[in-house]
Amino acid sequence: TEALASRDPELSAAITDELTRQRDEIELIASENIVSAAVMEAQGSVLTNKYAEGYPGRRYYGGCQHVDVAETLAIERACKLFDARFANVQPNSGSQANQAVFLALLQPGDTYLAMDLASGGHLTHGAPPNMSGKWFNAIHYGVREDTLDIDYDQLEALALEHRPRLILAGGSAIPRIIDMKRFRAVADKVGAYLMADMAHFAGLIAGGVYPNQMEDVHVLTSTTHKTLRGPRGGLVLTNDEAIAKKINSAVFPGLQGGPLMHVIAGKAAAFGEALRPEFADYQKQVVRNAQVLAQTLIDGGLAITTGGTDTHVMLVDLRPKGVKGNETEKALGRAHITCNKNGIPFDTEKFTVTSGIRLGTPAGTTRGFGTEEFRRIGQLIVEVVDGLAANGVEGNADVEERVKAKVKTLCDAFPIYQGL
Ligand code: PLP
Repeated sequence: TEALASRDPELSAAITDELTRQRDEIELIASENIVSAAVMEAQGSVLTNKYAEGYPGRRYYGGCQHVDVAETLAIERACKLFDARFANVQPNSGSQANQAVFLALLQPGDTYLAMDLASGGHLTHGAPPNMSGKWFNAIHYGVREDTLDIDYDQLEALALEHRPRLILAGGSAIPRIIDMKRFRAVADKVGAYLMADMAHFAGLIAGGVYPNQMEDVHVLTSTTHKTLRGPRGGLVLTNDEAIAKKINSAVFPGLQGGPLMHVIAGKAAAFGEALRPEFADYQKQVVRNAQVLAQTLIDGGLAITTGGTDTHVMLVDLRPKGVKGNETEKALGRAHITCNKNGIPFDTEKFTVTSGIRLGTPAGTTRGFGTEEFRRIGQLIVEVVDGLAANGVEGNADVEERVKAKVKTLCDAFPIYQGL
């Protein structure tokens, strides 16, 4: 038999165990989601066998007529979803989408301005160990100490001082809607390109619950696997034909060889789903759920940076309970609630410890959780955190066991991947 279970039981068991984990745990990692069986079918298809360097109709290999159809569908659907003129759907990840823009629009050593990691930016936005920080002169803006929202005055002052070639908006832990018009005004003042990395809020834009930014930016990058609920991958969009040409050359041959055609097929499937009206309902629910979760945590004595969220994501400030991010991530994990520790702005703890956790509602909402369930989840989180606060890093095993049983009941009521 060809089946993985008999050919390679060791690997097969790891995959089955991961399926069980996803079924039985509440997934609150803000950057994750649960793709449809259709997206997985496309990604697990024979398109994985095909070399297709180049772009539809302009390939360096024969036999590309069918993968051309798949990539063209992905491109057309991406353009329709975001009201864009040009899309490149080939980047293998969000990181490579960002690298493609840097390669297309900057020279090594050029100055650009981006949000700092500690305030909610991303590793690929100029962090010192990343290529984006090593090969370019990355200057960082942050958040205001009073509101913890983006410090637009600082952004403008830094832009006037450093005259960057590019300004980058977006990040991984920004709970409030970004004022992209303000960004564009600053970019225009200093003659910089404006790039937005919408990895976290692409699905919200596609669903109409976050302002579309195509009009404001020169170029947009994204991942396809977060709120957008597609396969792991990257995406670049622009309305400017000259920039589109540079981006295409930067992705191939600049950064990549053969694109992952099976993943591109998965992207096409996911974009098709995102074009349906149900996707807008889903995104509305994602935001509603996040607001209920944030309020429940506040009611339970925790703090949320910026006091709440307009999106799918929130940063929980654990300091009112006197516990740390790393121990909270572990305690919640023991209770089968999955999240990640996250620094909060102006955090005094090391990044391996942190004073916060980051929570998001996209995956839970996909499995069908509504506001009632997220209120319950918020209460369960508070119970586990209170157990930690009272008992130290070991937590309260009885509480964690009890919460784990309740998590199982919730997950069983909203099962995923029943056909698998
Ligand atoms: N940009 C932002 C804002 C992100 O949050 C992420 C993902 O963590 C990325 C880029 C990178 O995406 P990937 O993990 O696919 O390289």
